[in-house]
Amino acid sequence: DKLTSQEAIELENKYGAHNYHPLPVVLSRGEGVHVWDVEGKKYYDFLSAYSAVNQGHCHPKIVDAMVNQAKTLTLTSRAFYNDMLGKYEKFATELFGFDKLLPMNTGAEAVETALKIARKWAYEVKGIDENKAEIIVCENNFHGRTTTIISFSNDPVARKNFGPYTKGFIKIEYDNLQELQEALESSNNIAAFLVEPIQGEAGVYVPSDGYLAAAKKMCEDHNVLFIADEVQTGIARTGKMLAVDHENVKPDILILGKALSGGAYPVSAVLANDNVINVIRPGNHGSTFGGNPIAAAVAMAALEVVADENLAENAEKLGEIFRAELSEFCKNNHLVESVRGKGLLNAILINDSEDSSTAWDICIKLRDNGLLAKPTHGNIIRFAPPLVMTEAQLMDCIAIIKKTISEF
Ligand code: PMP
Repeated sequence: DKLTSQEAIELENKYGAHNYHPLPVVLSRGEGVHVWDVEGKKYYDFLSAYSAVNQGHCHPKIVDAMVNQAKTLTLTSRAFYNDMLGKYEKFATELFGFDKLLPMNTGAEAVETALKIARKWAYEVKGIDENKAEIIVCENNFHGRTTTIISFSNDPVARKNFGPYTKGFIKIEYDNLQELQEALESSNNIAAFLVEPIQGEAGVYVPSDGYLAAAKKMCEDHNVLFIADEVQTGIARTGKMLAVDHENVKPDILILGKALSGGAYPVSAVLANDNVINVIRPGNHGSTFGGNPIAAAVAMAALEVVADENLAENAEKLGEIFRAELSEFCKNNHLVESVRGKGLLNAILINDSEDSSTAWDICIKLRDNGLLAKPTHGNIIRFAPPLVMTEAQLMDCIAIIKKTISEF
């Protein structure tokens, strides 16, 4: 039986754990940049499942790859080889320029994997005393929800009452090279620096030009691994295939997730060169579903779509338009203080003097006007539409955003 929106919400609220606070809208279909609710109302998706649906909803090429593979072979586990994984690994490692790929399922799992690789590398290659390795991370980071990852989170809601916490992390201010330098010099036990090229969940915080390149150089000088978490920023989102490409930085460890599958399926990956990733040997790490043939087929198709449809170029071009239009709008609007971002990962900041619920209330009005977005923290609204958007569609969305905020 078909549920109404109200019924669907009631069911979730009654039978589902309350670990999210969704915007009240119940979606049942998606295509390209659009989604539809159960009553048939059409919306622009301006979140893309936190930047996972970069290739657009239900992209036919990705869906075909998934369905064809699902009809052939779904899961063998890594107890056996399957005939898709190697093909995908060759394709992805050549595309991103690394020797090897380690397949996982979710972003958090891939981050955990990268941390494990970095620690093992520190002991076996760098020669740090066992259990002494430290990893530098940034304030206001978001890397996922596991117990180790929340151990170095700043977010009290994500962290409080989940201890005891994992040791071995040094936290420094994001976009602060001086603090990075001091942290690197503070100990001989530093294994790695883990960083988001743009802090997405923190509110789309873009670091200063040159920060990533300089940070990478400092890490190199200290024989410390530079780990880029591109789960949110990767796969063309910021106008280049990877956000680190803006500064020609090659990370020692690259973490991908979300749009690696175009949102069709949970797929994540860790990529690195042999001198690092070969510390992982049989039995050291794994996952029943990691590297399954559906994931491999879906990820390969999803990466092909990004190249075939020039999604990075499109994100770059539309992002410029979006920020130019919105910053012009801010000048004459008291509600919105500024707009920031890169490519099609952007955010508007609501004026400090407003209520803390203003961003949420604006998102409700945007929903009523046919556009779905969500605040990150407090009064920051992230805008991250699928990258298959046309310029005409973007202009339509900008008009909705301006109208909604003007009427607010
Ligand atoms: N890293 C970053 C930078 C992210 O933005 C996210 C998700 N928002 C994650 C990791 C975690 O990914 P997942 O939710 O798939 O575990």
